Amino acid sequence: MQRTPIIAGNWKMHKTIQEARDFVRAVRSFLPGGKVETVICAPFTALAALVEELHNYPAAIGAQNVHWEESGAYTGEISPGMLVEIGVKYVIIGHSERREYFAETDETVNRKAKAAFAHGLLPIVCVGENLEQRESGKTKELVRDQVIRAVEGLSSEQAKQLVIAYEPVWAIGTGKSSSAEDAQEVIAFIRSMVEDAFDSQVASQVRIQYGGSVKPDNIMAYLEQPDIDGALVGGASLAPDSFLQLVEAVR
Ligand code: PGA
Repeated sequence: MQRTPIIAGNWKMHKTIQEARDFVRAVRSFLPGGKVETVICAPFTALAALVEELHNYPAAIGAQNVHWEESGAYTGEISPGMLVEIGVKYVIIGHSERREYFAETDETVNRKAKAAFAHGLLPIVCVGENLEQRESGKTKELVRDQVIRAVEGLSSEQAKQLVIAYEPVWAIGTGKSSSAEDAQEVIAFIRSMVEDAFDSQVASQVRIQYGGSVKPDNIMAYLEQPDIDGALVGGASLAPDSFLQLVEAVR
């Protein structure tokens, strides 16, 4: 099974609507289609403008969070249907910053993933260990738990369309990326967890990205690994030049 690599920019809390428009106007005519799927995960306020700017260009738009209910008394939250209505295709769920600062848990990640699929949104579920967990040899145990709990109750058809981002917390925004070999080892392990939870067909189709200090000068090493299907990129996705270099690294 040939998996299409997915390069996703995670803008976090960066870019106003105008800045988002300027960014995509600078990159959109250079975006390669076909061999790579390009995604920009932007703040809620910029999503509609990005969908409009990228109409007829080979890039999809993602949100960075979603609530699991369709509507209700949840002040400050955004529902899956609201995102689908404006043309959003992906949503990042369980990013370590949300787990750390906004009390996101494996349970809410699972609820959000199920709600996203129920509305036709595709989740990019983030998992990864922190430094202490890594140093005490708990990486696989932790990642196994996060993956198994995130996919609970999904159908095989849904799981095949899932994107998992393996992002070691100590590598995010620090300039200290995981070696490509270490990332490959954990990502192959995640694929085997998906096989245990579903079957080998699902495991061969699910796309698993690496994230954490990915830059134009190190992305190739990850893409060369057999189980790594692209990258989730924060800092290096913010400037048009480096974003294009990341996308063009897929051959
Ligand atoms: P970074 O962030 O590329 O700036 O390390 C990655 C992420 O948080 O998704």
